[in-house]
Amino acid sequence: MIDRPAIFITGAAAGIGRATAEWYAARGWFVGLYDLAGSACEGLRQKFGAEFAIAESLDVTDASAFEAALTRFWARTGRLDVMFNNAGILHTGEFAEMPLARHHALVDVNLKGVINGAHAAFQYLKKTKCSCLINMASASAINGTPAFATYGATKFAVKGLTEALSIEWARHGVRVMDLLPLFVATPMVNNVAVPPKSVGRLGVNLTAEDIASAVWRASQWKLWPRTHWYPGTQTQALAWSNKLLPALVNRISTKLVTGY
Ligand code: NAD
Repeated sequence: MIDRPAIFITGAAAGIGRATAEWYAARGWFVGLYDLAGSACEGLRQKFGAEFAIAESLDVTDASAFEAALTRFWARTGRLDVMFNNAGILHTGEFAEMPLARHHALVDVNLKGVINGAHAAFQYLKKTKCSCLINMASASAINGTPAFATYGATKFAVKGLTEALSIEWARHGVRVMDLLPLFVATPMVNNVAVPPKSVGRLGVNLTAEDIASAVWRASQWKLWPRTHWYPGTQTQALAWSNKLLPALVNRISTKLVTGY
């Protein structure tokens, strides 16, 4: 058993996962770094100090590899304070023009990967006092968004899964939350070959550190069950307008923003 709290992060090699790893390491946490890019995780482990982190290559779509990674993490730490199901991929474009394999890959990584992580982590979260599961959803789970159809569908599913588990797992003392940010400046957004119109119209106004700090605030929040976190004022404005305005107004504004 280690003498400090421990977080397990998927997709830790880049973007939001990496910034979150840096954030928690700087606050004295033990950090589990997991990604397809295992060598980048190893580089981070060396930076944090080998005794304060564990780094492994992991494909979140491989359920048995996920279970084995969590077993090794637990053997090293004896605690799992935060499970951060962050790994995800993005393919954008017209639904019918995108090859079916890309739609399936989105479901495999963004949804099944999150289910794999939640399922494998539960027994360890249950054994750790005041633990939590944090899933990365997206503002694409606020409105169905053209050019993001299947990506958004996976994030709506993550949002629904989170809501259900936040109630199921409360009796085990495990808090379950998700984050639903608008565009964040990470390789995911920066490397999109043809950015959808909504990226240009809304702008990329969040940094990976903004999201790391929101993960931190969510993980520290214990006052009352607060399931969905909308980082940034622009994301909050979108979430509130979706709740308060009539469906037709939201539809027209989505069409305007996405250029449809
Ligand atoms: P990113 O592409 O910068 O980093 C994602 C990391 O996940 C990469 O290191 C990649 O190697 C890893 N990864 C991908 N597939 C994996 C797999 N099968 N197994 C293990 N690791 C895998 O992306 P990001 O912007 O940091 O996004 C992180 C999460 O935040 C994703 O779930 C994404 O959908 C979500 N999100 C991103 C934005 C944004 O604008 N960047 C907005 C809302 C939500």
